[in-house]
Amino acid sequence: MTPGFNDLFNRLLAEHSVSSSNPAIDQSNLGVINLLADTFSDLGFTCELVDVPGHHKKANLIATLGTGPGGLVLSGHTDTVPFDEALWHTNPLAMTEKDNRLYGLGATDMKGFFAVVHEAVQDFLDADLQQPLIILATADEESSMEGARTMVAKGRPKARAAVIGEPTGLRPIHMHKGIMMEGIHVQGRSGHSSNPALGRNALEAMYDVISALLRFRQQLQMEYRNPHFVIDMPTLNLGVIHGGDNPNRICGHCDLEFDVRLLPGMASDAIREKIAALIAPIASKHQVEIKLTRLIPGVEAFDNMDSELGRLAEVLTGHAPESVAFGTEGPFLQQLGMDTIILGPGSIDQAHQPNEYMSLDQVRPCINILQSLIKQYCL
Ligand SMILES: [Zn+2]
Repeated sequence: MTPGFNDLFNRLLAEHSVSSSNPAIDQSNLGVINLLADTFSDLGFTCELVDVPGHHKKANLIATLGTGPGGLVLSGHTDTVPFDEALWHTNPLAMTEKDNRLYGLGATDMKGFFAVVHEAVQDFLDADLQQPLIILATADEESSMEGARTMVAKGRPKARAAVIGEPTGLRPIHMHKGIMMEGIHVQGRSGHSSNPALGRNALEAMYDVISALLRFRQQLQMEYRNPHFVIDMPTLNLGVIHGGDNPNRICGHCDLEFDVRLLPGMASDAIREKIAALIAPIASKHQVEIKLTRLIPGVEAFDNMDSELGRLAEVLTGHAPESVAFGTEGPFLQQLGMDTIILGPGSIDQAHQPNEYMSLDQVRPCINILQSLIKQYCL
C-alpha cells in the first residue's frame, strides 16, 4: 500500500458525518465529500458535487476518470450511524491500528472503503481507459437514503456495472429484502365510559386494524416465499402501540407502528395500497378516522440474480453470490440501469457497534478484486 493509505483512512474518520432522522444529532457530510473530492481531483478524476435537495449541508460526489458510456461505479456512503464515545476503547474519530485491525467509526461501514478504492485506482491513473471509472460517494444511507434517491432522480451516474463496498467479508451479495415502516393513527372521540354512545372507541377500532394486519401477513406469507433467505417469507412486525389515557374514559386515539420486510417481487407501493384498502372499511364500521403514514420513505427489495458482474465476482472471490438480511443502496443503483452487487471489506458484525474495525487481512484482497473489475470494465 502507498504511504497515503493510513493517512487518508484516518482523515476520513476524523470528518464527523453522523446521519440521523433526529435533527439534534444529524451532521453534514461535506467534510468527507470535500476530502474525497480533493483527494481524487489530485489523482486526475473529474469531481462533481451533487447537492441533496431539502437537506442542509448534504451532498453526493461523482468522481470520474475517463469518459464515454459503460464503465464501472465503485460506490459507498459517507455517513455513519450515531455513536456512544464512552463505549469505545479507542478514539472513534481517528484510525487506530491494533492487532492487525484498523479501528474507528466508519472503519468498515464504510468510509474505510474509500481508502481501499484510493489504493486500488493508483495503477490506472495513466492507463488509457476505454470506459470510465466512477467513484460515487453518497449522503444519508444510514438514515433516509436521500443521497441515493437524489441520484435516481438525476438519472446519474450511468455505467455498465456497480459495486457497493458495504462490509460483506468480500463475499458478493446480489439479494436483500426491502423494508417499509408505517404508522396507523386512529382518531376516535373520548367520553365517559359509562355510556359507549358518548364516544368512538379508537382502541376497539385498532383491535380490528391489528386483526386485519395479521390476516394480511398470513396471506402475504402464503403468497411469497424465497428459499434464498434464512427467513424465507415476508414479515410484518407490530412494534409500537400507544393509546388512550384512563380506564374510565372511552379511548379517543390510538397509534400503531409496524414494519414490513419485503421479498424481491413485492413492491412497497402495492403493499401500502392493500393495507389502505383493508383499513378503510374498519374506519366506517367504527365511525373513526384512520390514517396510514409512512415513517420512513422505505427501500425496495434488491435482486440481481444471474448477472454478469455476479458471475465475475464469483470467479474473483471463490464465493457464489448470496443474500443478506440488511438493506443497501443496491436497489437505487439498479434502478439507474447498472448491474449491481454489494461486495466490500470487513464484516457487518462490526458495523453499528462500538470498537468497529476493518480487518487488515481484507484490504489487499479487496484491492486485488477491485483492480480485476476495473480491468474488466474500464480497460
Ligand atoms: Zn453501510
